Amino acid sequence: MRWLSLLLLSLGLPFLVPAQNPTVRIGVLGIFHTQQLTLAADQTGELLVSAADQRIFVRSGSACSLLQIRSSGASLLLSCGGKEIRAPQMRASGRNQQAAGLVIGVPGKVTRRYVGVLDLNVTDGELVPVVAIGLETAVASVVEAESAPGTPPEALKAQAVVSRSYFAAGRGRHSNFDFCDLTHCQSLREPPAADSPAASATAATRDLVLSFDEKPVTAMFTRSCGGHTRTLAEIGLVPSAYPYFSVLCDVCYKNPVRWTRKVSREDALLLLRGEIGRLAIDRVLGWNAVPSNNFITHEQDGEVILEGTGQGHGLGLCQRGARSMAQDGSGFRAIIEHYFPNTQLKVLSSVPDS
Ligand SMILES: [Zn+2]
Ligand SMILES: [Zn+2]
Repeated sequence: MRWLSLLLLSLGLPFLVPAQNPTVRIGVLGIFHTQQLTLAADQTGELLVSAADQRIFVRSGSACSLLQIRSSGASLLLSCGGKEIRAPQMRASGRNQQAAGLVIGVPGKVTRRYVGVLDLNVTDGELVPVVAIGLETAVASVVEAESAPGTPPEALKAQAVVSRSYFAAGRGRHSNFDFCDLTHCQSLREPPAADSPAASATAATRDLVLSFDEKPVTAMFTRSCGGHTRTLAEIGLVPSAYPYFSVLCDVCYKNPVRWTRKVSREDALLLLRGEIGRLAIDRVLGWNAVPSNNFITHEQDGEVILEGTGQGHGLGLCQRGARSMAQDGSGFRAIIEHYFPNTQLKVLSSVPDS
């Protein structure tokens, strides 16, 4: 199919390329470190659960409407409608192995709906649910989860392109799956309604990714940049294919988000290591313990005071800046061009190695 895509591109017809929707394997609900889950089909659907050469159909209104799953040693114990299965792993899909609406619950904590195929196994006694989600559904879910309420449509489109590029280029960030559902990768919850602003922005930019040097970019975004975005080298990270460039961000430059924090001398030393040190502190003290890597320090009563600007690592798309540019009339292409200099927007299927 690639030769056809290339031919159409050479004719200037990229949008006639037949729609392909690759999947991304996302580890979900890992934050709960759970040993128990429930699984149901959404609304009128039906799930086929396969484990140890056996099958269970899960359907609302039937004898098996809610599958109970728990870990037992290195095995899964499945029970539903009087049937029990012990197996090392299981898969849940639609009747013909296709993506289906899955409602996964962590008892007493959360219930969340996904559209995809669920693979489940046990690692170190914990259940590890991994959902293979269509790329566009995953992008819409991230745009919904990662954008501030009221974000203008063109800024949502820029976010969709950035999130899609990240999925296309950044696979393999975890050993059992490609991405988690937390800010470590990209926050992802339920897919938004088809007529929601997040879904519309995703559909309007379908298949578009950022490319640099003919490869998709693992595109990053930050809540606010403090005035300038950063390069990888500036924040002590190893260079990647796309080095990032520092660009002026008008709204943050004129009126940065300011913050003050107190940290121990030990943690202040850790911060000398740049972004890696900041993330190490945030992992222990909470994600907002040190909001950005852009600060000055002074000592007071044996503690170190940080006075900083910006929120997040400062790389790539500044979400606050993107909102401001969109409010001032910029389209998503101009926003992307501003925050990702030297990249091009391309159709995913036309980018080699994607
Ligand atoms: Zn992750
Ligand atoms: Zn900014």
